[in-house]
Amino acid sequence: MRFCRFEKDGEAHSGTVEGDEVVDFDRGNRYSLDEVRLLAPVIPRKFLGIGLNYADHIAESGMEAPEFPVFFNKQSTCVVGPEVEVHMPRVSSLLDYEGELAIVIGTRCRHVPEDRAGEVIAGYTIANDVSVRDWQLRTPTMTMGKSFDTHGPLGPWVVTADELGDPHSLGIRTWVNDELRQDGNTGQMIYDCYEQVAHLSEAFTLEPGDVIATGTPAGIGAVRQPFPDGLLKVGDTVRIEIDGIGALENKVVEEPDTYTAPAAPALPAWLDRGTF
Ligand code: MG
Repeated sequence: MRFCRFEKDGEAHSGTVEGDEVVDFDRGNRYSLDEVRLLAPVIPRKFLGIGLNYADHIAESGMEAPEFPVFFNKQSTCVVGPEVEVHMPRVSSLLDYEGELAIVIGTRCRHVPEDRAGEVIAGYTIANDVSVRDWQLRTPTMTMGKSFDTHGPLGPWVVTADELGDPHSLGIRTWVNDELRQDGNTGQMIYDCYEQVAHLSEAFTLEPGDVIATGTPAGIGAVRQPFPDGLLKVGDTVRIEIDGIGALENKVVEEPDTYTAPAAPALPAWLDRGTF
């Protein structure tokens, strides 16, 4: 199944996507996808990302492969949905994209063995781990450079694990405007989805709706030469496609004079599947 959140007549709803239609969970109304605005399928309580998780991306970054998985936090206020504008910050012009497969947790869990990690995953969506490179590299935690408002596009929907099949054999491609920048496969991850869930849950409880961005393949803007020509500019559109899920597209605009992130909605009912 494909779960989504959408806005219709100014109200947010949860639903499923069937073909080119959306079915409202509460009322059963059906709408064409053209008639609604898709929202981020979930606003996570925890939004984690793993860095340096594809060998070709480590190589292009000139870094050593880390001894342990390198996780950082993206603040949940950075989450936006498909087609929502991403802001070029007032305080930096070093804006970059990272196309990533994102895990959505469905079950409250702790100490999940790797071979059972699939049981706590509700499904998968697409993330753009938008990054402000100078702010990211200023401090070891990376949190601020990964968390600017609007820098966490998620969507277009969550595809359940049973529908998606093996999450480790999916083509993942990122375009900036018409130019293909990233062309990888989730099979190239160093720590796969199940290892990431197992590792994180050794330390803390994962909760329904938590999102884990699983790393980006080679082709980020910051390493293209001459620097900084590969980075994002106002007016650029980033499109990320993952096989079996769909596409997530967002355009870059100047940060507006006033913006505050929307208040987080309650979790949709389909997402909370109890305790592991
Ligand atoms: Mg990333």
